[in-house]
Amino acid sequence: MSVVNRDQDQESDQPRPQPRPGRQPSWFEGEDEAQTERGGLFVGVVVDRALDAVLTYRAPQRLVASIQLGQRVRVPLGRNGVVTGYCVSVDLLPPEDLPPSKIKDVVEILDAVPLIDARMLELTRWMAGYYMCSWGQALDAVVPAGVRNQAGTRVGTFLVVRPEARQAFDDETLQKTLTAKQTAAIEALCRSDELLTVSDVCRRAKCGAGVIKTLRDDGLIHTVKRRLSLAASRSDDSEPAAGEPTAAPKPPPAMTPEQAAAMAALTPALDGDAFAPFVIFGVTGSGKTEVYLTAIERTVARGREAIVLVPEISLTPQTIRRFRRRFRRVAVLHSHLSDVERHRHWQSIAQGEIDVVVGARSAIFAPTRRLGLIVVDEEHESTFKQETVPRYHARDVAVKRAQLENTPVLLGSATPSLETWRNAELGRYARISMPSRVEGRPMPAVEIIDLRNEKHLTGGLSETLRLAMHQALDDDGQVILLLNRRGYNTFVICPKCGQVVKCRHCDVAATYHKNRHMLICHTCDAERACPPACPSCQAPVLHYGGIGTERLEREIRMEFPFHESRRMDSDTMRRHGSHEVTLAAFKSGEVKILLGTQMIAKGLDFPNVTLVGVVDADVALHLPDFRAAERTFQLVAQVAGRTGRGNRPGRVLVQSFCPEHPAIANAARHDYEGFVRYELPTREAPLASPYGRIVRLVARGRDEARVEKYLDELTKTLRAKAPPGVRFWGPSPTPILKIREEFRFHLQIRCASAAPLRAMLRDLPLHPPPNKVDLAVDVDPISML
Ligand code: ADP
Ligand code: ZN
Repeated sequence: MSVVNRDQDQESDQPRPQPRPGRQPSWFEGEDEAQTERGGLFVGVVVDRALDAVLTYRAPQRLVASIQLGQRVRVPLGRNGVVTGYCVSVDLLPPEDLPPSKIKDVVEILDAVPLIDARMLELTRWMAGYYMCSWGQALDAVVPAGVRNQAGTRVGTFLVVRPEARQAFDDETLQKTLTAKQTAAIEALCRSDELLTVSDVCRRAKCGAGVIKTLRDDGLIHTVKRRLSLAASRSDDSEPAAGEPTAAPKPPPAMTPEQAAAMAALTPALDGDAFAPFVIFGVTGSGKTEVYLTAIERTVARGREAIVLVPEISLTPQTIRRFRRRFRRVAVLHSHLSDVERHRHWQSIAQGEIDVVVGARSAIFAPTRRLGLIVVDEEHESTFKQETVPRYHARDVAVKRAQLENTPVLLGSATPSLETWRNAELGRYARISMPSRVEGRPMPAVEIIDLRNEKHLTGGLSETLRLAMHQALDDDGQVILLLNRRGYNTFVICPKCGQVVKCRHCDVAATYHKNRHMLICHTCDAERACPPACPSCQAPVLHYGGIGTERLEREIRMEFPFHESRRMDSDTMRRHGSHEVTLAAFKSGEVKILLGTQMIAKGLDFPNVTLVGVVDADVALHLPDFRAAERTFQLVAQVAGRTGRGNRPGRVLVQSFCPEHPAIANAARHDYEGFVRYELPTREAPLASPYGRIVRLVARGRDEARVEKYLDELTKTLRAKAPPGVRFWGPSPTPILKIREEFRFHLQIRCASAAPLRAMLRDLPLHPPPNKVDLAVDVDPISML
């Protein structure tokens, strides 16, 4: 690939207008001498700022031959000097209302080959309108940073761990002196097969640049400058490692009647050239993935490409292997990729070298050339929603992209979101049901343990669950335990004054982590030492309560000392690859008990698991969010699906204080539709989704009064011009009032249809927040906290 850079441009034989000696280039001033030069093309340019406008520039004669849609260009912009933007239109004539003398020239073209095509331009323009962000912000989401900065093709600054530090780190002598973030950063560097930039390390270690700076200041790491080319580094943990036998392609199993029926329904769409949305509603283990694979085979066979979206957490080696076994040219896009790797994948996809793109959220923007199918597995997963600008939902973007590219799209789930379910009910999506498991395996029997009857419960396990575990293990089965709360104790409270010890920066109870002997905030990751006395009333003894995975692990080790157990949560799975190691140990039978957070609930397929225990089904049930019941139902139903997948029947025990709650009772009966019959009507009157469209405005800032006042005033303004049918919830403090020292207030605006909301919010930019207050506009919000 070649990049047109300034130097090449200057060497080209095309004359370029020179500014007169002693004068600034004309774009710094109002009048433009270059306008006297006739000809050129007029291009619409979107700059990557929050500025929501298409600006018109002129491509001078020397650039006319090379300017194309989707290229990035450098253009003069007011006092900002020269900025980068995307070329979104090319015309022979300027807009009528714009006098030619006002039109400035494009300075240079950055990309020889456009980064995005016309259809992507259209998709991003739709995103900007729908999600109420600027077109430039949407474009930035589509083109990864590694592609924008052409990662890997030029000199870059990379981080290296000093050999002495590396040695000390391996000996674990160093680790005691480091914070968790610092450890994660060094670990990311030690584990990578290729050079990493600061931003690569920050992403992998989930830390800020400050952590890197400290490590540099302490002399543990240093920087080197290297020139890399795209081809030079080829390391990808999803590719089969050397030595690992590439599994021989297995012939696909003969289809079950339900799978065959699903394919029969899909085939005309797969062979056609029209938009066709489908929902595959199939219980866990019904063979949905097999249907995706077969559908993709058909798509690839006719020379088209497929994009498969899965939640990041399901992007396990097990899943990836399943695709690699069936297809030769697969690209896996996950969040651990470095800029260089991402850039390389992007190039091979754009050059038509890839048939199947498998990835998390942002893979929906893969630059395929002849897209033939999009699959969204576990479409109900909330991680498909991006929580930073542009706040898009990858499932919904997938449907839009399929519509723009005239392809089928398959949304699959055992527990579809109510939005998708309703779209199917209304006939917008064709529904394919797969109600039974392959090979006639029964759904596991689920029993609910009413914790109100467990008078002597001291730990996480009721008597019934404990005995069931002994029995399963004695029968040589394996056990999965779900507890969706990490840490040792979930709160620390003063028995005298009743105050809970909170994070210093957030309005959140801190969690006690015993291994590290620290209180950690699960909202901002800040750590604080365990206080010797109550921070409020100085009482000398604090009470530690609530059970997290770390404490459950201890309980399990005491109760089952002769059975290997392993904990899987984001504390133990910090090292990239540890997921794989743990799952392999579980698969081989070496580990008998796997316990963990929702990480273990998704997509795992182990035939020998005969018992699944849900230690506390109520964790998310009472959160102030209208989707609390839906999420609880989904999690319990998904984890219940992790057993009985082999020849041995499975048993599921669910511990709850609210066994009658429809979310729990229906999950226990594997009755999705029963849950929907209960849940949907509760959403109708309050115009909650899927009945209402919701836009959530969140204002935040350090000055509580200022944030509150701004949102109050904004609400008044909006109310004054609200069309009929629009309803307001709030403004009110968010359930977590303070996060990272910032106070947050929110307002929900709901309406049965989207158009009035959009019309009302069109001139939101006219009411910008005051200094030091931020406003986030969240369309179709997923999080309400
Ligand atoms: P889902 O995605 O619905 O949970 P999978 O496609 O993962 O279901 O299938 C569940 C299990 O059944 C997997 O181990 C898979 O290999 C196996 N399987 C799928 N289809 C068939 C089939 N037609 N015959 C035999 N086994 C199958
Ligand atoms: Zn915090």
